[in-house]
Amino acid sequence: YQGLAGRSTKEVLQLYAAHDQQMKFQRSSVVTQLHGAIKKRLKQDLKSLHSFALELSKDFQRQSKTCLYQVLAAVQGLQLQNEAMQMFQIKAFDLEQSLQEVTERYEKEKQKRKALHNSLIELRGNIRVHCRIRPLLPFDDAAGHSQDRQRNFSEKVAYAADDETVLVKCSRPGHASVNKTFQFERVYNDLESQDAVFADVAPLLTSLLDGYNVCIMAYGQTGSGKTYTMLGPQLEGNLAFAIEEESELGIIPRATEEVFRLISEKPPGSYWVEVSVVEVYNNEIFDLLAKDTCGKVFGVKRDVVTTREGKSDVPLLTHETVENVSEFLHLVNKGLQLRVTHPTLVHAHSSRSHLVVTLTITTVVFGDNFGTLWEDEQTSQRLNKEASFTFPQKMRDNKSTSSSRASSPVQLEATEKMKQVKTRLQLVDLAGSECVGLSGVTGAALRETSFINRSLSALADVLGAIAEQRAHVPYRNSKLTHLLQDSVGGDAKLLVMLCISPGQKYLTESMQSLGFGTRARQVQRGQVKKKNFPVPSKGK
Ligand code: ADP
Ligand code: MG
Repeated sequence: YQGLAGRSTKEVLQLYAAHDQQMKFQRSSVVTQLHGAIKKRLKQDLKSLHSFALELSKDFQRQSKTCLYQVLAAVQGLQLQNEAMQMFQIKAFDLEQSLQEVTERYEKEKQKRKALHNSLIELRGNIRVHCRIRPLLPFDDAAGHSQDRQRNFSEKVAYAADDETVLVKCSRPGHASVNKTFQFERVYNDLESQDAVFADVAPLLTSLLDGYNVCIMAYGQTGSGKTYTMLGPQLEGNLAFAIEEESELGIIPRATEEVFRLISEKPPGSYWVEVSVVEVYNNEIFDLLAKDTCGKVFGVKRDVVTTREGKSDVPLLTHETVENVSEFLHLVNKGLQLRVTHPTLVHAHSSRSHLVVTLTITTVVFGDNFGTLWEDEQTSQRLNKEASFTFPQKMRDNKSTSSSRASSPVQLEATEKMKQVKTRLQLVDLAGSECVGLSGVTGAALRETSFINRSLSALADVLGAIAEQRAHVPYRNSKLTHLLQDSVGGDAKLLVMLCISPGQKYLTESMQSLGFGTRARQVQRGQVKKKNFPVPSKGK
Protein backbone atom coordinates (compact mmCIF):
# COMPACT_ATOMS: atom_id res chain seq x y z
CA TYR A 1 0.00 0.00 0.00
CA GLN A 2 2.84 2.16 0.95
CA GLY A 3 4.26 1.53 -2.43
CA LEU A 4 0.96 2.01 -4.00
CA ALA A 5 0.46 5.17 -2.01
CA GLY A 6 3.95 6.28 -3.06
CA ARG A 7 3.23 5.52 -6.69
CA SER A 8 -0.15 7.23 -6.44
CA THR A 9 1.49 10.33 -4.87
CA LYS A 10 4.09 10.33 -7.68
CA GLU A 11 1.29 10.00 -10.12
CA VAL A 12 -0.63 12.77 -8.40
CA LEU A 13 2.52 14.98 -8.42
CA GLN A 14 3.06 14.17 -12.03
CA LEU A 15 -0.53 15.00 -12.69
CA TYR A 16 -0.13 18.29 -10.81
CA ALA A 17 2.96 19.14 -12.76
CA ALA A 18 1.20 18.24 -15.96
CA HIS A 19 -1.72 20.32 -14.85
CA ASP A 20 0.60 23.21 -14.02
CA GLN A 21 2.25 22.86 -17.33
CA GLN A 22 -1.12 22.74 -18.97
CA MET A 23 -2.22 25.79 -17.11
CA LYS A 24 0.99 27.61 -17.87
CA PHE A 25 0.68 26.72 -21.43
CA GLN A 26 -2.94 27.73 -21.49
CA ARG A 27 -2.17 31.02 -19.70
CA SER A 28 0.72 31.97 -21.91
CA SER A 29 -1.25 31.53 -25.07
CA VAL A 30 -4.07 33.89 -23.77
CA VAL A 31 -1.55 36.44 -22.67
CA THR A 32 0.14 36.24 -25.99
CA GLN A 33 -3.18 36.62 -27.68
CA LEU A 34 -4.14 39.55 -25.45
CA HIS A 35 -0.74 41.04 -25.78
CA GLY A 36 -0.99 40.77 -29.49
CA ALA A 37 -4.35 42.44 -29.51
CA ILE A 38 -3.20 45.17 -27.23
CA LYS A 39 -0.07 45.68 -29.19
CA LYS A 40 -2.04 45.92 -32.36
CA ARG A 41 -4.43 48.43 -30.82
CA LEU A 42 -1.61 50.40 -29.36
CA LYS A 43 0.08 50.50 -32.69
CA GLN A 44 -3.11 51.80 -34.26
CA ASP A 45 -3.58 54.43 -31.58
CA LEU A 46 0.02 55.50 -31.85
CA LYS A 47 -0.30 55.81 -35.56
CA SER A 48 -3.38 57.96 -35.37
CA LEU A 49 -1.82 59.98 -32.58
CA HIS A 50 1.23 60.46 -34.68
CA SER A 51 -0.76 61.59 -37.66
CA PHE A 52 -2.80 63.90 -35.41
CA ALA A 53 0.36 65.33 -33.92
CA LEU A 54 1.77 65.75 -37.38
CA GLU A 55 -1.36 67.53 -38.48
CA LEU A 56 -1.28 69.68 -35.38
CA SER A 57 2.35 70.67 -35.86
CA LYS A 58 1.69 71.40 -39.52
CA ASP A 59 -1.23 73.61 -38.54
CA PHE A 60 0.88 75.28 -35.91
CA GLN A 61 3.61 75.93 -38.41
CA ARG A 62 1.10 77.40 -40.84
CA GLN A 63 -0.41 79.67 -38.21
CA SER A 64 2.90 80.79 -36.80
CA LYS A 65 4.05 81.56 -40.32
CA THR A 66 1.13 83.90 -40.94
CA CYS A 67 1.69 85.46 -37.52
CA LEU A 68 5.31 85.92 -38.35
CA TYR A 69 4.39 87.61 -41.59
CA GLN A 70 2.04 89.90 -39.70
CA VAL A 71 4.70 90.72 -37.14
CA LEU A 72 7.19 91.32 -39.90
CA ALA A 73 4.81 93.63 -41.70
CA ALA A 74 4.10 95.50 -38.45
CA VAL A 75 7.82 95.83 -37.72
CA GLN A 76 8.44 97.08 -41.20
CA GLY A 77 5.62 99.63 -40.83
CA LEU A 78 7.08 100.73 -37.54
CA GLN A 79 10.47 101.13 -39.08
CA LEU A 80 9.02 103.26 -41.88
CA GLN A 81 7.22 105.38 -39.34
CA ASN A 82 10.38 105.73 -37.32
CA GLU A 83 12.28 106.84 -40.37
CA ALA A 84 9.55 109.33 -41.27
CA MET A 85 9.60 110.63 -37.74
CA GLN A 86 13.34 111.04 -37.88
CA MET A 87 12.99 112.87 -41.16
CA PHE A 88 10.40 115.16 -39.64
CA GLN A 89 12.66 115.78 -36.69
CA ILE A 90 15.53 116.66 -39.00
CA LYS A 91 13.24 118.85 -41.03
CA ALA A 92 11.95 120.60 -37.90
CA PHE A 93 15.49 121.16 -36.75
CA ASP A 94 16.47 122.50 -40.17
CA LEU A 95 13.44 124.77 -40.18
CA GLU A 96 14.25 126.02 -36.73
CA GLN A 97 17.78 126.76 -37.79
CA SER A 98 16.77 128.49 -40.98
CA LEU A 99 14.19 130.51 -39.04
CA GLN A 100 16.95 131.69 -36.76
CA GLU A 101 19.13 132.49 -39.76
CA VAL A 102 16.27 134.33 -41.46
CA THR A 103 15.58 136.31 -38.30
CA GLU A 104 19.23 137.30 -38.08
CA ARG A 105 19.29 138.14 -41.77
CA TYR A 106 16.07 140.13 -41.42
CA GLU A 107 17.66 142.25 -38.72
CA LYS A 108 20.69 142.87 -40.93
CA GLU A 109 18.49 143.56 -43.97
CA LYS A 110 16.42 146.01 -41.94
CA GLN A 111 19.52 148.04 -41.24
CA LYS A 112 20.66 147.71 -44.85
CA ARG A 113 17.18 148.81 -45.96
CA LYS A 114 17.62 152.07 -44.09
CA ALA A 115 20.97 152.76 -45.72
CA LEU A 116 19.68 151.74 -49.17
CA HIS A 117 16.50 153.77 -48.80
CA ASN A 118 18.63 156.78 -48.10
CA SER A 119 20.92 156.10 -51.06
CA LEU A 120 17.83 155.75 -53.26
CA ILE A 121 16.39 159.02 -52.01
CA GLU A 122 19.80 160.65 -52.53
CA LEU A 123 20.05 159.20 -56.04
CA ARG A 124 16.69 160.65 -56.88
CA GLY A 125 18.17 163.85 -55.56
CA ASN A 126 17.89 165.38 -52.12
CA ILE A 127 15.93 168.07 -53.94
CA ARG A 128 13.26 166.85 -56.30
CA VAL A 129 10.49 168.65 -58.10
CA HIS A 130 7.02 167.26 -58.78
CA CYS A 131 4.43 169.15 -60.80
CA ARG A 132 0.67 168.98 -60.41
CA ILE A 133 -1.69 170.39 -63.00
CA ARG A 134 -5.11 171.04 -61.52
CA PRO A 135 -8.32 170.61 -63.52
CA LEU A 136 -10.03 173.56 -65.21
CA LEU A 137 -12.52 174.98 -62.71
CA PRO A 138 -15.65 177.14 -63.06
CA PHE A 139 -13.88 180.27 -61.79
CA ASP A 140 -11.31 179.97 -64.61
CA ASP A 141 -14.08 181.22 -66.91
CA ALA A 142 -14.68 184.44 -65.01
CA ALA A 143 -13.41 187.44 -66.95
CA GLY A 144 -10.07 188.43 -65.53
CA HIS A 145 -8.20 191.45 -66.67
CA SER A 146 -8.79 191.82 -70.34
CA GLN A 147 -6.36 193.37 -72.71
CA ASP A 148 -7.09 190.55 -75.05
CA ARG A 149 -10.79 189.79 -75.11
CA GLN A 150 -10.90 187.82 -78.32
CA ARG A 151 -8.82 184.99 -76.80
CA ASN A 152 -10.41 182.19 -74.92
CA PHE A 153 -8.94 182.56 -71.42
CA SER A 154 -10.29 179.29 -70.16
CA GLU A 155 -8.68 177.31 -72.97
CA LYS A 156 -6.40 174.64 -71.58
CA VAL A 157 -2.74 175.19 -72.41
CA ALA A 158 -0.85 173.14 -69.81
CA TYR A 159 -0.98 169.34 -69.99
CA ALA A 160 0.76 166.37 -68.46
CA ALA A 161 2.25 164.77 -71.60
CA ASP A 162 3.31 161.78 -69.51
CA ASP A 163 4.13 161.25 -65.88
CA GLU A 164 7.44 163.09 -66.19
CA THR A 165 6.69 165.77 -68.78
CA VAL A 166 4.63 168.96 -68.83
CA LEU A 167 3.60 170.26 -72.23
CA VAL A 168 2.67 173.94 -72.57
CA LYS A 169 1.17 175.40 -75.72
CA CYS A 170 2.54 178.92 -75.91
CA SER A 171 0.80 181.21 -78.34
CA ARG A 172 1.23 184.90 -78.86
CA PRO A 173 -1.08 186.91 -81.06
CA GLY A 174 0.21 186.88 -84.60
CA HIS A 175 2.61 184.00 -83.96
CA ALA A 176 2.24 180.29 -84.53
CA SER A 177 1.81 178.43 -81.27
CA VAL A 178 4.96 176.79 -79.90
CA ASN A 179 4.97 173.71 -77.69
CA LYS A 180 7.32 173.82 -74.74
CA THR A 181 8.13 170.84 -72.53
CA PHE A 182 9.46 170.65 -68.99
CA GLN A 183 10.78 167.54 -67.28
CA PHE A 184 10.27 166.79 -63.59
CA GLU A 185 10.67 163.77 -61.34
CA ARG A 186 6.91 163.32 -61.48
CA VAL A 187 4.04 165.11 -63.23
CA TYR A 188 0.42 164.66 -62.12
CA ASN A 189 -2.40 165.26 -64.59
CA ASP A 190 -5.67 166.92 -63.62
CA LEU A 191 -7.36 163.58 -62.89
CA GLU A 192 -4.81 162.29 -60.41
CA SER A 193 -6.06 161.98 -56.87
CA GLN A 194 -4.70 163.18 -53.57
CA ASP A 195 -3.91 159.50 -52.96
CA ALA A 196 -1.65 159.31 -56.02
CA VAL A 197 0.15 162.50 -55.02
CA PHE A 198 0.76 161.25 -51.51
CA ALA A 199 2.02 157.86 -52.69
CA ASP A 200 5.15 159.58 -54.05
CA VAL A 201 5.60 161.64 -50.89
CA ALA A 202 5.38 158.75 -48.40
CA PRO A 203 8.95 157.37 -48.97
CA LEU A 204 10.34 160.67 -47.68
CA LEU A 205 8.68 160.04 -44.33
CA THR A 206 10.61 156.79 -43.99
CA SER A 207 13.73 158.95 -44.33
CA LEU A 208 12.37 161.24 -41.64
CA LEU A 209 12.23 158.40 -39.11
CA ASP A 210 15.64 157.23 -40.34
CA GLY A 211 17.01 160.54 -39.01
CA TYR A 212 16.86 163.03 -41.90
CA ASN A 213 15.07 166.36 -41.99
CA VAL A 214 12.40 166.61 -44.66
CA CYS A 215 10.68 169.57 -46.28
CA ILE A 216 7.70 169.45 -48.63
CA MET A 217 6.62 172.76 -50.13
CA ALA A 218 3.94 173.77 -52.62
CA TYR A 219 4.91 176.49 -55.08
CA GLY A 220 2.61 178.22 -57.56
CA GLN A 221 0.39 181.18 -58.20
CA THR A 222 -2.75 181.84 -56.19
CA GLY A 223 -5.55 179.52 -57.24
CA SER A 224 -3.23 176.87 -58.68
CA GLY A 225 -4.05 174.30 -56.00
CA LYS A 226 -1.28 174.69 -53.39
CA THR A 227 -3.58 174.67 -50.38
CA TYR A 228 -5.70 171.92 -51.94
CA THR A 229 -2.59 169.80 -52.45
CA MET A 230 -1.06 170.49 -49.04
CA LEU A 231 -4.16 170.52 -46.84
CA GLY A 232 -7.24 169.57 -48.86
CA PRO A 233 -10.34 171.40 -49.98
CA GLN A 234 -11.17 174.45 -47.86
CA LEU A 235 -14.51 174.95 -46.22
CA GLU A 236 -16.81 177.56 -47.78
CA GLY A 237 -16.01 181.00 -46.38
CA ASN A 238 -13.72 179.49 -43.80
CA LEU A 239 -9.97 179.33 -43.69
CA ALA A 240 -10.03 175.95 -42.09
CA PHE A 241 -10.01 172.95 -44.35
CA ALA A 242 -12.62 170.25 -44.64
CA ILE A 243 -11.62 167.09 -42.80
CA GLU A 244 -14.85 165.15 -43.33
CA GLU A 245 -13.90 163.75 -46.71
CA GLU A 246 -10.85 161.60 -46.03
CA SER A 247 -10.08 160.83 -49.66
CA GLU A 248 -9.73 164.57 -50.29
CA LEU A 249 -7.20 165.18 -47.53
CA GLY A 250 -3.93 166.68 -48.70
CA ILE A 251 -0.27 166.02 -47.96
CA ILE A 252 -0.11 167.63 -44.50
CA PRO A 253 -2.75 165.45 -42.77
CA ARG A 254 -1.68 162.34 -44.69
CA ALA A 255 2.00 162.83 -43.87
CA THR A 256 1.13 163.23 -40.20
CA GLU A 257 -0.91 160.05 -40.30
CA GLU A 258 1.99 158.22 -41.95
CA VAL A 259 4.43 159.55 -39.34
CA PHE A 260 2.20 158.19 -36.57
CA ARG A 261 1.86 154.88 -38.43
CA LEU A 262 5.64 154.56 -38.75
CA ILE A 263 6.08 155.46 -35.10
CA SER A 264 3.54 152.81 -34.08
CA GLU A 265 5.92 150.21 -35.54
CA LYS A 266 8.70 151.38 -33.21
CA PRO A 267 9.08 150.50 -29.54
CA PRO A 268 6.51 152.48 -27.54
CA GLY A 269 7.64 155.68 -25.85
CA SER A 270 10.83 156.04 -27.87
CA TYR A 271 9.37 158.71 -30.17
CA TRP A 272 7.17 161.72 -29.67
CA VAL A 273 5.80 164.39 -31.94
CA GLU A 274 5.47 168.12 -31.43
CA VAL A 275 3.75 170.53 -33.77
CA SER A 276 4.26 174.20 -34.47
CA VAL A 277 2.28 176.25 -36.95
CA VAL A 278 3.72 179.54 -38.16
CA GLU A 279 2.98 182.01 -40.85
CA VAL A 280 5.56 184.16 -42.58
CA TYR A 281 3.83 187.40 -43.52
CA ASN A 282 5.66 190.51 -44.73
CA ASN A 283 8.91 188.88 -43.66
CA GLU A 284 7.69 188.44 -40.08
CA ILE A 285 7.12 185.12 -38.34
CA PHE A 286 3.80 184.69 -36.53
CA ASP A 287 3.23 181.89 -34.06
CA LEU A 288 -0.27 180.65 -34.86
CA LEU A 289 -0.49 178.43 -31.78
CA ALA A 290 0.50 181.03 -29.17
CA LYS A 291 -2.15 181.43 -26.46
CA ASP A 292 -3.01 184.28 -24.14
CA THR A 293 -3.69 183.75 -20.44
CA CYS A 294 -7.31 182.79 -21.20
CA GLY A 295 -6.10 180.09 -23.55
CA LYS A 296 -7.30 181.99 -26.62
CA VAL A 297 -5.13 181.50 -29.65
CA PHE A 298 -3.62 184.55 -31.28
CA GLY A 299 -0.70 185.21 -33.60
CA VAL A 300 2.46 186.37 -31.82
CA LYS A 301 5.49 187.68 -33.64
CA ARG A 302 8.60 185.53 -33.23
CA ASP A 303 12.13 185.73 -34.50
CA VAL A 304 14.32 183.12 -36.08
CA VAL A 305 17.90 182.79 -34.89
CA THR A 306 20.89 180.60 -35.65
CA THR A 307 22.05 178.51 -32.71
CA ARG A 308 25.67 177.91 -31.75
CA GLU A 309 25.50 174.56 -33.56
CA GLY A 310 24.52 176.42 -36.73
CA LYS A 311 20.87 175.32 -36.68
CA SER A 312 17.89 177.59 -37.13
CA ASP A 313 15.64 178.03 -34.13
CA VAL A 314 12.63 180.13 -33.22
CA PRO A 315 12.90 180.98 -29.50
CA LEU A 316 9.67 180.82 -27.50
CA LEU A 317 7.78 179.26 -30.39
CA THR A 318 4.80 177.19 -29.22
CA HIS A 319 5.28 173.46 -29.72
CA GLU A 320 2.29 171.32 -28.91
CA THR A 321 2.67 167.60 -28.30
CA VAL A 322 0.22 165.57 -30.38
CA GLU A 323 -0.47 161.87 -30.09
CA ASN A 324 -2.67 161.25 -33.09
CA VAL A 325 -3.85 162.75 -36.36
CA SER A 326 -7.12 164.15 -35.09
CA GLU A 327 -5.36 166.11 -32.33
CA PHE A 328 -3.02 167.41 -35.00
CA LEU A 329 -5.81 168.41 -37.42
CA HIS A 330 -7.72 170.16 -34.68
CA LEU A 331 -4.61 172.17 -33.81
CA VAL A 332 -3.75 173.09 -37.40
CA ASN A 333 -7.32 174.14 -38.11
CA LYS A 334 -7.24 176.40 -35.05
CA GLY A 335 -4.02 177.95 -36.30
CA LEU A 336 -5.40 178.38 -39.79
CA GLN A 337 -8.27 180.56 -38.60
CA LEU A 338 -5.65 183.21 -37.91
CA ARG A 339 -4.02 183.17 -41.30
CA VAL A 340 -3.75 186.59 -42.82
CA THR A 341 -5.36 186.76 -46.22
CA HIS A 342 -6.10 189.46 -48.64
CA PRO A 343 -8.58 189.06 -51.48
CA THR A 344 -7.00 189.75 -54.83
CA LEU A 345 -8.55 189.66 -58.24
CA VAL A 346 -7.14 186.21 -58.92
CA HIS A 347 -8.98 184.25 -56.28
CA ALA A 348 -11.25 185.29 -53.44
CA HIS A 349 -9.21 183.50 -50.77
CA SER A 350 -5.74 184.08 -52.04
CA SER A 351 -3.25 183.61 -49.32
CA ARG A 352 -0.64 186.29 -49.00
CA SER A 353 1.52 184.50 -46.47
CA HIS A 354 3.64 181.37 -46.27
CA LEU A 355 2.27 178.72 -43.96
CA VAL A 356 4.84 176.47 -42.32
CA VAL A 357 3.63 173.47 -40.31
CA THR A 358 6.53 171.79 -38.52
CA LEU A 359 6.48 168.33 -36.97
CA THR A 360 9.40 167.79 -34.67
CA ILE A 361 10.02 164.12 -33.99
CA THR A 362 12.12 163.44 -30.94
CA THR A 363 13.72 160.04 -30.62
CA VAL A 364 14.79 158.96 -27.17
CA VAL A 365 17.45 156.33 -26.77
CA PHE A 366 18.74 154.94 -23.52
CA GLY A 367 22.53 154.89 -23.04
CA ASP A 368 24.18 152.15 -25.12
CA ASN A 369 21.38 151.36 -27.55
CA PHE A 370 22.14 154.41 -29.56
CA GLY A 371 24.40 152.72 -32.08
CA THR A 372 21.86 150.04 -32.93
CA LEU A 373 19.17 152.50 -33.94
CA TRP A 374 21.06 153.80 -36.94
CA GLU A 375 23.17 150.96 -38.22
CA ASP A 376 24.39 152.96 -41.18
CA GLU A 377 27.59 154.51 -39.90
CA GLN A 378 27.24 158.03 -41.24
CA THR A 379 23.83 158.70 -39.82
CA SER A 380 24.77 157.14 -36.54
CA GLN A 381 27.87 159.32 -36.23
CA ARG A 382 26.06 162.44 -37.33
CA LEU A 383 23.18 161.90 -34.95
CA ASN A 384 25.49 160.86 -32.15
CA LYS A 385 27.17 164.22 -32.44
CA GLU A 386 23.85 166.02 -32.32
CA ALA A 387 22.35 163.97 -29.53
CA SER A 388 21.86 165.81 -26.29
CA PHE A 389 21.62 164.43 -22.81
CA THR A 390 18.45 166.20 -21.87
CA PHE A 391 15.03 165.02 -20.88
CA PRO A 392 12.05 167.25 -21.51
CA GLN A 393 9.63 167.99 -18.73
CA LYS A 394 6.74 166.58 -20.75
CA MET A 395 8.30 163.14 -20.86
CA ARG A 396 8.24 163.09 -17.09
CA ASP A 397 4.69 164.40 -16.93
CA ASN A 398 3.89 161.85 -19.62
CA LYS A 399 1.68 164.36 -21.44
CA SER A 400 1.45 168.09 -21.49
CA THR A 401 -0.67 170.28 -23.66
CA SER A 402 1.72 173.07 -24.31
CA SER A 403 5.35 173.85 -23.82
CA SER A 404 7.96 176.12 -25.15
CA ARG A 405 11.20 174.62 -26.33
CA ALA A 406 13.27 177.17 -24.43
CA SER A 407 11.93 176.17 -21.03
CA SER A 408 11.17 172.47 -21.27
CA PRO A 409 14.49 170.54 -21.30
CA VAL A 410 15.66 169.56 -17.87
CA GLN A 411 19.13 168.25 -17.16
CA LEU A 412 19.07 164.69 -15.96
CA GLU A 413 21.01 162.94 -13.30
CA ALA A 414 23.67 160.58 -14.62
CA THR A 415 21.67 157.43 -13.85
CA GLU A 416 18.69 158.60 -15.89
CA LYS A 417 20.80 159.61 -18.88
CA MET A 418 19.15 159.22 -22.22
CA LYS A 419 19.97 160.70 -25.57
CA GLN A 420 17.45 162.45 -27.73
CA VAL A 421 17.61 163.31 -31.39
CA LYS A 422 15.27 165.67 -33.16
CA THR A 423 14.31 165.42 -36.79
CA ARG A 424 12.06 167.90 -38.50
CA LEU A 425 9.34 167.63 -41.10
CA GLN A 426 8.45 171.05 -42.50
CA LEU A 427 5.31 171.28 -44.60
CA VAL A 428 4.99 174.55 -46.45
CA ASP A 429 2.08 176.17 -48.29
CA LEU A 430 3.89 179.06 -49.96
CA ALA A 431 2.19 182.35 -50.74
CA GLY A 432 1.06 182.89 -54.34
CA SER A 433 3.97 183.42 -56.74
CA GLU A 434 2.02 185.69 -59.16
CA CYS A 435 3.42 188.93 -60.52
CA VAL A 436 1.99 192.20 -59.23
CA GLY A 437 0.62 193.15 -62.62
CA LEU A 438 -1.67 190.15 -62.93
CA SER A 439 -3.12 190.43 -59.46
CA GLY A 440 -3.83 194.10 -59.94
CA VAL A 441 -2.88 195.11 -56.42
CA THR A 442 -1.80 198.47 -55.04
CA GLY A 443 -0.95 199.97 -51.63
CA ALA A 444 -0.65 197.59 -48.69
CA ALA A 445 -1.31 194.62 -50.91
CA LEU A 446 1.50 195.75 -53.19
CA ARG A 447 3.78 195.77 -50.12
CA GLU A 448 2.67 192.24 -49.33
CA THR A 449 3.36 191.17 -52.86
CA SER A 450 6.82 192.64 -52.86
CA PHE A 451 7.62 190.82 -49.61
CA ILE A 452 6.33 187.62 -51.15
CA ASN A 453 8.41 188.14 -54.28
CA ARG A 454 11.49 188.87 -52.20
CA SER A 455 11.07 185.76 -50.06
CA LEU A 456 10.45 183.57 -53.09
CA SER A 457 13.50 184.92 -54.87
CA ALA A 458 15.50 184.37 -51.67
CA LEU A 459 14.29 180.76 -51.84
CA ALA A 460 15.43 180.55 -55.48
CA ASP A 461 18.82 182.00 -54.46
CA VAL A 462 19.22 179.41 -51.71
CA LEU A 463 18.47 176.58 -54.13
CA GLY A 464 20.88 178.15 -56.64
CA ALA A 465 23.68 178.40 -54.08
CA ILE A 466 23.17 174.75 -53.14
CA ALA A 467 23.27 173.83 -56.85
CA GLU A 468 26.59 175.55 -57.32
CA GLN A 469 27.89 174.08 -54.06
CA ARG A 470 28.82 177.54 -52.90
CA ALA A 471 30.42 177.70 -49.46
CA HIS A 472 27.88 180.31 -48.42
CA VAL A 473 24.18 179.62 -48.83
CA PRO A 474 22.22 182.84 -48.22
CA TYR A 475 19.62 181.32 -45.89
CA ARG A 476 19.43 184.50 -43.83
CA ASN A 477 18.32 186.75 -46.68
CA SER A 478 14.70 186.12 -45.73
CA LYS A 479 12.85 184.81 -42.71
CA LEU A 480 11.30 182.08 -44.86
CA THR A 481 14.62 180.54 -45.94
CA HIS A 482 16.14 181.06 -42.49
CA LEU A 483 13.21 179.18 -40.96
CA LEU A 484 13.58 176.32 -43.48
CA GLN A 485 17.38 176.22 -43.30
CA ASP A 486 17.69 172.81 -41.61
CA SER A 487 15.34 171.01 -43.98
CA VAL A 488 16.71 172.47 -47.23
CA GLY A 489 20.25 171.57 -48.30
CA GLY A 490 22.78 169.25 -46.69
CA ASP A 491 21.45 165.74 -46.38
CA ALA A 492 17.90 166.98 -45.78
CA LYS A 493 15.29 165.93 -48.32
CA LEU A 494 13.29 168.61 -50.14
CA LEU A 495 10.28 168.08 -52.36
CA VAL A 496 8.97 171.04 -54.31
CA MET A 497 5.41 170.50 -55.51
CA LEU A 498 4.81 172.89 -58.40
CA CYS A 499 1.13 173.70 -58.75
CA ILE A 500 -0.06 174.79 -62.18
CA SER A 501 -3.36 176.26 -63.38
CA PRO A 502 -3.95 174.85 -66.85
CA GLY A 503 -5.83 177.82 -68.40
CA GLN A 504 -4.56 180.19 -71.08
CA LYS A 505 -5.29 183.06 -68.70
CA TYR A 506 -2.50 181.90 -66.40
CA LEU A 507 0.10 181.12 -69.07
CA THR A 508 2.66 183.71 -67.93
CA GLU A 509 2.41 182.63 -64.28
CA SER A 510 2.54 178.95 -65.17
CA MET A 511 5.70 179.51 -67.26
CA GLN A 512 7.26 181.38 -64.34
CA SER A 513 6.46 178.49 -61.94
CA LEU A 514 7.78 175.89 -64.39
CA GLY A 515 10.97 177.96 -64.74
CA PHE A 516 11.38 178.03 -60.94
CA GLY A 517 10.91 174.25 -60.81
CA THR A 518 13.40 173.66 -63.61
CA ARG A 519 16.04 175.76 -61.84
CA ALA A 520 15.38 173.94 -58.56
CA ARG A 521 15.94 170.61 -60.36
CA GLN A 522 19.39 171.74 -61.43
CA VAL A 523 20.23 171.53 -57.77
CA GLN A 524 19.76 167.80 -58.03
CA ARG A 525 21.92 167.54 -61.12
CA GLY A 526 24.65 169.40 -59.24
CA GLN A 527 24.44 166.85 -56.44
CA VAL A 528 24.46 163.88 -58.75
CA LYS A 529 27.55 165.29 -60.39
CA LYS A 530 29.17 165.65 -57.01
CA LYS A 531 28.53 161.94 -56.41
CA ASN A 532 30.20 160.92 -59.67
CA PHE A 533 33.24 163.15 -59.21
CA PRO A 534 33.92 163.15 -55.52
CA VAL A 535 35.11 166.43 -54.12
CA PRO A 536 36.54 166.84 -50.62
CA SER A 537 33.52 167.59 -48.45
CA LYS A 538 33.57 170.52 -46.12
CA GLY A 539 34.16 170.05 -42.46
CA LYS A 540 35.62 166.54 -42.65
P1 ADP B 1 -3.96 178.03 -53.90
O1 ADP B 1 -3.79 177.56 -52.51
O2 ADP B 1 -2.80 177.72 -54.76
O3 ADP B 1 -4.32 179.46 -53.96
P2 ADP B 1 -6.29 176.39 -53.84
O4 ADP B 1 -5.72 175.17 -53.28
O5 ADP B 1 -7.05 177.27 -52.93
O6 ADP B 1 -5.17 177.23 -54.57
O7 ADP B 1 -7.15 175.93 -55.09
C1 ADP B 1 -8.02 176.82 -55.76
C2 ADP B 1 -9.31 176.10 -56.07
O8 ADP B 1 -9.08 175.01 -56.93
C3 ADP B 1 -9.97 175.52 -54.83
O9 ADP B 1 -11.36 175.70 -54.94
C4 ADP B 1 -9.61 174.05 -54.89
O10 ADP B 1 -10.60 173.27 -54.27
C5 ADP B 1 -9.55 173.82 -56.39
N1 ADP B 1 -8.58 172.78 -56.73
C6 ADP B 1 -7.25 172.92 -56.71
N2 ADP B 1 -6.63 171.78 -57.12
C7 ADP B 1 -7.60 170.91 -57.41
C8 ADP B 1 -7.64 169.55 -57.88
N3 ADP B 1 -6.51 168.87 -58.12
N4 ADP B 1 -8.84 168.98 -58.06
C9 ADP B 1 -9.97 169.65 -57.81
N5 ADP B 1 -10.02 170.91 -57.39
C10 ADP B 1 -8.87 171.56 -57.17
MG1 MG C 1 -3.85 178.69 -50.84
